Amino acid sequence: MGASLAPVWIGLGANQGDCRAHLQFALNGLAGLAVGRVVRSPLYRSAPVGPQDQADFFNAVARFDTVLAPHALLDRLQSLEQARGRVRARRWGPRTLDLDILLYGVQRLDDGRLKIPHPELSRRLFVLRPMADLDPLLEIPGHGTLADLLAACPPLRLDSVSWRSAEPPPHI
Ligand code: ATP
Ligand code: CA
Ligand code: CA
Repeated sequence: MGASLAPVWIGLGANQGDCRAHLQFALNGLAGLAVGRVVRSPLYRSAPVGPQDQADFFNAVARFDTVLAPHALLDRLQSLEQARGRVRARRWGPRTLDLDILLYGVQRLDDGRLKIPHPELSRRLFVLRPMADLDPLLEIPGHGTLADLLAACPPLRLDSVSWRSAEPPPHI
């Protein structure tokens, strides 16, 4: 019997250094974990969760199919974070790259290392909005539909920004 294919959703975040380069690196790395295409959401910018004395965050989500089991997937995500020099200093502090497993199919999981669906998913506009951009009718196991979660989510500032890093040249 072959390994089963699971549809997964990953949250991507960065607020240190060249954030777009970190996120693009992550998307390339995720392609190596996927069977088939990795679909990325639009990119958003928002004020940090937690300590406010740090830069704005750039966030997006990615969706793909994988044969990796949840903990093996987390291992690979943490390797990608390490490759961008992620240092865990303080909770919710600045980071070059953060990769969270948001959903792993319809599976629910809660052990010492991994909680799925991601426990903060339903409270974070910067996760719900890009997920809804890709699949507005998606059902979150144990939480209801994305549309319901979005309606109940605190309406914080969330700016849609370009994936392209270069500033457009000035008009002459
Ligand atoms: P938050 O989880 O609130 O977004 P964070 O991303 O800053 O905070 P990290 O320091 O990146 O937290 O991760 C701390 C630990 O969270 C990881 O070592 C991992 O074991 C655990 N964890 C639990 N559930 C998940 C998940 N769904 N995705 C990623 N990590 C998870
Ligand atoms: Ca996170
Ligand atoms: Ca994380």
